[in-house]
Amino acid sequence: MNKNIELLAPAGDLERAKTAIRFGANAVYLGGKRFSLRSRASNFEIKDIKEACDYAREYGAHIHVTINMIPHDEDFDGLEEYVKELESAGVTAVIVASPTIIQTVKKVAPKLEVHLSTQMSTTNLQAIEYYKRLGVDRIVFARECNLDEVKYISTNSSIPTEAFIHGGMCVNYSGRCTLSNAMTLRDANRGGCAQSCRWKYHLYQGNQELSIEDCLFSMSSKDLMAVEFMYDLMDANVASLKIEGRMKSAYYIASVVHTYRMAIDEIAKTEKPLSAERIMYYTKELAKAENRPTSIGFYRGLPTAKAHLYGVNGAGVTHDFVGVVLGYNKDTGVAKVQVRNVFNIGSNLEVFGPHIHNEPFVIDSIVNSDGDLIEVANQPMSVVDVKIPFVVEAQDLIRRR
Ligand code: SF4
Repeated sequence: MNKNIELLAPAGDLERAKTAIRFGANAVYLGGKRFSLRSRASNFEIKDIKEACDYAREYGAHIHVTINMIPHDEDFDGLEEYVKELESAGVTAVIVASPTIIQTVKKVAPKLEVHLSTQMSTTNLQAIEYYKRLGVDRIVFARECNLDEVKYISTNSSIPTEAFIHGGMCVNYSGRCTLSNAMTLRDANRGGCAQSCRWKYHLYQGNQELSIEDCLFSMSSKDLMAVEFMYDLMDANVASLKIEGRMKSAYYIASVVHTYRMAIDEIAKTEKPLSAERIMYYTKELAKAENRPTSIGFYRGLPTAKAHLYGVNGAGVTHDFVGVVLGYNKDTGVAKVQVRNVFNIGSNLEVFGPHIHNEPFVIDSIVNSDGDLIEVANQPMSVVDVKIPFVVEAQDLIRRR
């Protein structure tokens, strides 16, 4: 069993990268402003990537950078300089979906590991051996592999494997999609996906509009949630468990990373599969941040439309993120809290963080920055003093129960 399995989290900016690492991710993947599938949304200049690498090193964690576009000839300008800069910044690995980029990285930045993106739809051992000869150091499975395939390939592969455990799924084969190109002229495979699969559509047969349970039809898939397969993935010596979601909030990242960290640590300690009760517990923890319905993806084979299709059934978020602890005075029991969502006297809240797990408390006083007692904290990003009857740390998060 791989008890030291890597928990790999996404980050859309420096704050989220640091949050993921603080809450227990062993590695974070992010995209720079060039050559990445989320390049439009990236906030990472090279200096930010370097800061993320320095921060990760303090925690024994690693930074992976996506350069996973499907490049056309016009896209290679500046590639060599860029990967050299990533190598110098202290990046551990690049996530790649192009043979040309693999060979370029190997030639000009040999200290970088090359991880083959899920975009390359790797589903069999022969493909892995082929990519290994090209210089690939790790492969990310296609999300369409079932659990038996992931176990068989991971047990027999001569290079490490990485499997998705949580987050968005593309409705097309591991993201090989031109829907966004057709609808918006934005190329999903060159960083421009407009998530057109998540739009609502009218369905017609000939001229007649079809009624789909009285709602417009979205072809988007539910998100993946694979808590129940964690033991199997660790037992099969998968090297890394990956969470999707570079566009997600710091609160989402903290909640999801925190939950999977606990699950991995529990399995590593007991060396047993999670009980049904524990799976339910972790599922509820994830629901505190998850804002889309989830499914088990392809892990038990081809999913039915009902199991997979977004909007057929699903769950909402059970908890609201309301604040970030900025500091705590142990003598007075007062915490400085940055307000992110409304809370008031009597609100039933809980704190979670790297060293604290869902500790509940009820708000009995709020003091604003002028020193006035107030009933409601409702100014986003303002800082208030609240009494918390246990020790908390800066950067712990507070949510409404
Ligand atoms: S439109 Fe949907 S299926 Fe296509 S690449 Fe974007 S998210 Fe994936």
